[in-house]
Amino acid sequence: MLWIACIAIVMIAGFYTLRPLFVEAEGNLDIDLLAETELDRLLDRKNVVYHNLRDLEFEHKMGRLTDSDFQQLAAGYKGEAASILQRLDQLNASENLDALIEKDIAARKPKSSGASRRDRDPGHCPSCGALIITGKKFCADCGQRL
Ligand SMILES: [Zn+2]
Repeated sequence: MLWIACIAIVMIAGFYTLRPLFVEAEGNLDIDLLAETELDRLLDRKNVVYHNLRDLEFEHKMGRLTDSDFQQLAAGYKGEAASILQRLDQLNASENLDALIEKDIAARKPKSSGASRRDRDPGHCPSCGALIITGKKFCADCGQRL
């Protein structure tokens, strides 16, 4: 009888010792999955809501729902659909914004590095790159102040 108690104590102790590892791992995994698939979840949810709305309209046409029940339920689904579409718009907008920012950075990179290279070169105009004569205040080619 004693060995059963011992095994039980070991199992319980082991369970509580190891449990936080698994719980934490699962929690992190869930957060990652949620972050990655918010778009997917929204699209799925949108399909479900649209499907429910069609079902609701069908049930109403068949006379299985009263007008007031139908309107109340339909309003709930339409409100949810609106918030889903709004969130989808936000996600699309933020994706577009990211793309725009990255494009902008990519477009600026060669220009800025080129300008700074010319800035560090005292023998050439920072604006047009023409060779300049030491001591001159303006570029002879483009008139840039030096
Ligand atoms: Zn110049």
